[in-house]
Amino acid sequence: MNSKKTITILHTGGTIASKVDYKTGGVIARYTPEELLYKFPEIAHVVNVKSRLIRNMWSEDINFKHYNLLAKEILKELHKVDGVIITHGTDTLAYTSAALSFILEGLEKPVLLVGAQRSSDRGSSDAPFNLICAAKFIAETDFGEVGICMHESMSDDNCLIMPACKTRKLHSSRRDAFKVVNG
Ligand code: ASP
Repeated sequence: MNSKKTITILHTGGTIASKVDYKTGGVIARYTPEELLYKFPEIAHVVNVKSRLIRNMWSEDINFKHYNLLAKEILKELHKVDGVIITHGTDTLAYTSAALSFILEGLEKPVLLVGAQRSSDRGSSDAPFNLICAAKFIAETDFGEVGICMHESMSDDNCLIMPACKTRKLHSSRRDAFKVVNG
């Protein structure tokens, strides 16, 4: 067994799991967890990764029952691994992070929500950098809360780990759409 930490990525869908649909010009929810990991093999250099599909849906369709389902699935994983990453659509990602932070009070391990503003099949996608930053943060810290990991600026320089209850999506397309408000 190697000395790397082990994480589970739980997938819920959203743009991060999408491909462009060239018939409509929109994106369709498509990627399986295995395909995503295959696309971003750098993550496996940082941590050992297990991944599981919970749903493949747009985040605007996520409701209270999904918060409970996700919390249960996170708890199932957390006693086996060092941290959990949730891939999620960006539109309601901040609501899910707030809900999870109340449901999962007293966490000792990290739970990071990660989305993308551009689908994972595009060269300009922010998905790989957001995911790799989240994995690196889990690998190198002893953070024990729910947080959001997204780009700090328009370029691939840094990501921020933002607080679960004080973060908002403030732009529809920019990579740095997520901002901490009053924090
Ligand atoms: N409408 C999509 C969603 O929130 C947008 C995204 O994933 O970024 O699921």
